Amino acid sequence: MKKIAVLTSGGDSPGMNAAIRSVVRKSIYEGYEVYGVYQGFQGLINDNIEKLELGDVGDIIQRGGTKLFSARCPEFIEAGVRQKGLENLKKYGIDSLVVIGGDGSYRGAQRLNEEGINTIGVPGTIDNDINGTDFTIGFDTALNTVVDAVDRIRDTATSHERTFIIEVMGRDAGDLALWAGLAGGAETILIPEAAADIKAVAERIETGMNRGKKHSIIIVAEGVMSAQECGMELRKYINVDTRESVLGHMQRGGKPTGNDRVLASRLGALAVDLLKDGVSGCAVGIENNKLVETKFDKIFDEKHQIDRALYKLSQELSI
Ligand code: ADP
Repeated sequence: MKKIAVLTSGGDSPGMNAAIRSVVRKSIYEGYEVYGVYQGFQGLINDNIEKLELGDVGDIIQRGGTKLFSARCPEFIEAGVRQKGLENLKKYGIDSLVVIGGDGSYRGAQRLNEEGINTIGVPGTIDNDINGTDFTIGFDTALNTVVDAVDRIRDTATSHERTFIIEVMGRDAGDLALWAGLAGGAETILIPEAAADIKAVAERIETGMNRGKKHSIIIVAEGVMSAQECGMELRKYINVDTRESVLGHMQRGGKPTGNDRVLASRLGALAVDLLKDGVSGCAVGIENNKLVETKFDKIFDEKHQIDRALYKLSQELSI
């Protein structure tokens, strides 16, 4: 009988639980045994592994975070350390592994695949920064969290006639800032994929003020600079009263949206289907609403890109 293990690794994201549930239920549906590895790759080397049954993933589809916990395990880059994990899997007779996480976790998954475990990656991160999928699990939920925060800040920005600078997560990627800025009607969106011209931003704010505009909202991706730095840079050019908000880890939490739950359910089940068909060494994703799989090598080959048309639109609508 096939034995599949599942783990979550790296930064957590809302919808990881729905993905775990899908992997577990689909595996059991197919007649396989399924095991949960707690604390990501750390749990793999520490033998923190447990057989899961249908009931173990009951009542988690609506919960943020991850039932299996997550961890960073820097020493997993060492072959000798990974060997311990491989031995633990062998001990249970596990031949297949589903890794839910970001591209760092995919690298660990790729190594394990090369070392003899059939491995599939499932994209779980709020950053939406992984190639091989249009959307990652957790992005939609985080987007809605940020938009809600922007709406609230807009209310107070209007009342007090101030410029608000909101710092959004995303590591080196600007997807979350771009989508949230577009959905929240921000005047300025600063993302790592487009050079930040603070002088031009300052001039635009000034022109707006002269035109009678009472407030302005700037969304800055953490990969560009901090909200604090952005405020200091702006004040080099104009005399403006700014307030900075760093949304921080609240962006990672909360119950997943319907979209994230459906995406997680589809991708988790696809991972099991691929393992059933003898496919491994790749990650699952969704492109143009079609489920796809992409070899890890191809995923690492190119840098993740933002949707340029969306960025152009955000600029056209914020004049
Ligand atoms: P994310 O998966 O969210 O991108 P990280 O980049 O922190 O998060 O990666 C998660 C974990 O994946 C790391 O803590 C490490 O255990 C493992 N990992 C990352 N890069 C490699 C690598 N080159 N080789 C083996 N394991 C890796």
